[in-house]
Amino acid sequence: MVASIHPSLFDRMVKLRRDLHRHPELSREEHRTTDRLVSELERLGLECQRPLDTGLVAEIPGASDAPTVAIRADIDALPIHEETGLPYASDVPGVMHACGHDAHAAMLVGAAELLMSRPEPPPAPIRLIFQPAEELGIGARSMIEAGVLDGVGAIFGGHVDRHYPTGTVVAVSGPVNASTDGFRISISGQQGHAARPHETVDAVVAGSLIVMAVQTIVSREIDPTHPSVVSIGRFEAGTASNVIAGTAVLSGTIRAQEPAVRAHLHRSISRICESVGQLHEADIQLEIEEGTPPLVNQGPMVEVARRAASEALGPERVRTMVRGANMGGEDFSWYLQEVPGCYVRLGARLADSAGYPAHSSRFQIDEAVLPAGAAWLAEVAVQGGRELATGMVDDLEAAGRAS
Ligand SMILES: [Zn+2]
Ligand SMILES: [Zn+2]
Repeated sequence: MVASIHPSLFDRMVKLRRDLHRHPELSREEHRTTDRLVSELERLGLECQRPLDTGLVAEIPGASDAPTVAIRADIDALPIHEETGLPYASDVPGVMHACGHDAHAAMLVGAAELLMSRPEPPPAPIRLIFQPAEELGIGARSMIEAGVLDGVGAIFGGHVDRHYPTGTVVAVSGPVNASTDGFRISISGQQGHAARPHETVDAVVAGSLIVMAVQTIVSREIDPTHPSVVSIGRFEAGTASNVIAGTAVLSGTIRAQEPAVRAHLHRSISRICESVGQLHEADIQLEIEEGTPPLVNQGPMVEVARRAASEALGPERVRTMVRGANMGGEDFSWYLQEVPGCYVRLGARLADSAGYPAHSSRFQIDEAVLPAGAAWLAEVAVQGGRELATGMVDDLEAAGRAS
């Protein structure tokens, strides 16, 4: 076993994870999941609060009144029909834990058990956040609006990752996940007879020009060492082959790892829409729906995350990223907009399923990630608290010297 965790705790985590796996629930519908987690935490003597309809928060008191350290797991599943053939595969047709959030929830319960069994209270209070609706990119924000970051000085979390060996923790400064914005372009031209194009404003031609022009934003305007994506996934127009379309709607997604690149992509799409509108005398409206911000680890809490991994799992298990940051989104980024912290990858490579990525109907993880993840979460909560408590002492001493 990777982390030195009592076999009975490992068994409990596996049992819990498999139960959640068998009964997956979609974002904002995690009622059974929440009830199950509450009963697990109450068994440990923890009091739970439910700031939203689903999801929960529980608090472990600390030895000082330093700011709270939050550790977070997401708990929702995806609208995917499971095809793993596992004995504990989903009982719910069309719904599957295909991103590993079942494992995240089980690890956080495991971390709670480790923290509660410590002989002394942790240096600072610890808040366990079991967050709903990560897959919609809205859960973190809703939890923040409900006050879960009140009094929090640092936050940590992690995601299982099949690209890294089980038991390793990848904690790095810099971008980890991309921003995920959506956009919709509505083109309004002039419909007419396909044989009399000069009497029309062709929305298909204007739309096609937009599709081609946006390809040059990433390839010709953005520094190639700063990954970004603009994709148009949908182009709707026209009613008949002999009618020139008067309207068209295009929609797509924008991804970037840095706030400045994200802003550049927004500006360029807008500029292209405006120019094509002028060129074709079409009315073109652009709506950008802002999603999660880029997830960027920075500051001293990254070092705290690495130190905790080294303490909990051994220095050889602390890794840096061998692949670039993930262009997928992760709504943990909302927390990092508010408080310092670090989001890590938790290696969970299963030799024979390496070909199936997250969000696939055959996605699987190595369950030996559970003790490793739990050990890291518990340790980072303690180390983070120590950092915050020491910071407070430093602040007091500085204030004392000043007076
Ligand atoms: Zn996911
Ligand atoms: Zn996920």
